[in-house]
Amino acid sequence: MLSNLVKNGLCRIVGEANCSFSREELLCYSYDATNTLHQPDAVVFPSGPEEVSLILKMANSEGFPVIPRGAGTGFSGGSLPVEGGVVISFERMRKILEIDTENLVAVVEPGVVTWDLQQKAEKLGLFYPPDPSSLKFSTIGGNIAECAGGPRAVKYGVTRDYVLGLEAVLPTGEIINTGVRTAKGVVGYDLTRLLVCSEGTLGIVTKAVLKLLPLPEATVTMLSLFSDMRDAARATSAIIKSRIIPSTLEIMDSVSIKCVEGFAKTGLPDAGALLLIEVDGHRAAVDAEAEAVRKVCLESGAKEFRRAADKDEVKDLWKARRAVSAALYKARPGKINEDIVVPRSRIPELVEGLRGISERYGVLIASFGHAGDGNIHVNIMHDKETQAEAALSAAEDVFRLALSLGGTISGEHGVGLSKARYLDMELKPEAIAAMRKIKEAFDPRGILNPGKIFPTPPGRKAAGSAVVL
Ligand SMILES: Cc1cc2nc3c(=O)[nH]c(=O)nc-3n(C[C@H](O)[C@H](O)[C@H](O)COP(=O)(O)OP(=O)(O)OC[C@H]3O[C@@H](n4cnc5c(N)ncnc54)[C@H](O)[C@@H]3O)c2cc1C
Repeated sequence: MLSNLVKNGLCRIVGEANCSFSREELLCYSYDATNTLHQPDAVVFPSGPEEVSLILKMANSEGFPVIPRGAGTGFSGGSLPVEGGVVISFERMRKILEIDTENLVAVVEPGVVTWDLQQKAEKLGLFYPPDPSSLKFSTIGGNIAECAGGPRAVKYGVTRDYVLGLEAVLPTGEIINTGVRTAKGVVGYDLTRLLVCSEGTLGIVTKAVLKLLPLPEATVTMLSLFSDMRDAARATSAIIKSRIIPSTLEIMDSVSIKCVEGFAKTGLPDAGALLLIEVDGHRAAVDAEAEAVRKVCLESGAKEFRRAADKDEVKDLWKARRAVSAALYKARPGKINEDIVVPRSRIPELVEGLRGISERYGVLIASFGHAGDGNIHVNIMHDKETQAEAALSAAEDVFRLALSLGGTISGEHGVGLSKARYLDMELKPEAIAAMRKIKEAFDPRGILNPGKIFPTPPGRKAAGSAVVL
């Protein structure tokens, strides 16, 4: 609960019209894509770094939590106010401040929606590659905090590869600038990289300097159908082994295909698995690469392979791919969504292992995602009433499997709340201790986004009430 002193202080900082304490409005800032609900005590809409700084200074002196929030599309509970407190939303900080076409740089506020930046860049013949499937809603601030990836990561990398510099407010209220807006820069510790992927626990991003690329001249979109997920997995490994790096290499298993068709009716053919593949670059090169991909897919057992005939077909294929998460949720609201990564050569072993886990626990597993970088979204679909425990055990086995194959338990969704208790499956105690020291140095009072990444110390209670929807 916030005191009246704090409430009045917040209103003075951002203006009365830009803070809210009403139950209805707070509800809108209480959830993310994990479907868990934690209500904040206030939500504020600052207009710039100075206001963010004053809020954080007050949080330090009065001792209340502050939680930065983008669009709330996170899959690990990062924006949830688990201990109550003040949510900072960036809805008033949505400006694309500059696109420097000579130096291929964009400067944006954190609330800019990823898609809006991409569209603006494309109109100028430029390209901002990071493309989480949530790109039409998620914000650049949230993408930076989670180091979002997406289908194009296989060729172009993830958000961190495009962040040149940041303006950020430290948990104690100081406004800092990190990095550069040049192509290179090595002065001091790389605070930009430290803040990227820090899940809103080390600082609040108030401005980002982003790298742009020239827009590729041509793209070919292809669909390859397989009778079995194992063949699609083998084809994925074979494409990478043959040294073609597609701009997109996405996989969907039969459960995902069926659910999407039931949900979005995009005309996907029935199949045991599919690969959605794109190559991009110079016109002449993409035709040669597309032909090479076709050969590898057919040699790996594809039963059908085709190039998208026109823009409408490309649009439908992407509509289908981007609808998978929502379609699976609609089919089975009891769904645990993990995003493990394995070396690409080991995807076939992962597919076998997942079958074993599905049989062992009697839960349906739907797999889809960014096969090109070994990042598979494993969805454990279960009956909430009777299979919740089995689903959690299955998830733990999925993590064990990924680690045993030389992988990681999260490729892009982050640790947040949902994976905090599994942190020590992947990281040694010494590494966790070093991370805790960084957090303490940045945020001595622990006011910025508490309860995230690190397992909650025994005896410490979450103040906000959790409701699993
Ligand atoms: C259908 C669907 C598809 C998705 N597909 C992908 C995908 O392909 N790839 C992928 O990587 N993710 C994907 N995601 C997950 C999610 O969209 C990303 O993690 C995204 O980056 C979150 O952005 P957001 O604006 O919604 O942030 P939020 O969910 O609001 O917040 C995420 C984290 O960022 C912090 N944060 C937000 N703004 C700031 C700021 N200005 N400064 C500091 N910290 C901040 C929050 O505190 C929180 O910890 C998907 C989600 C959905 C629902």
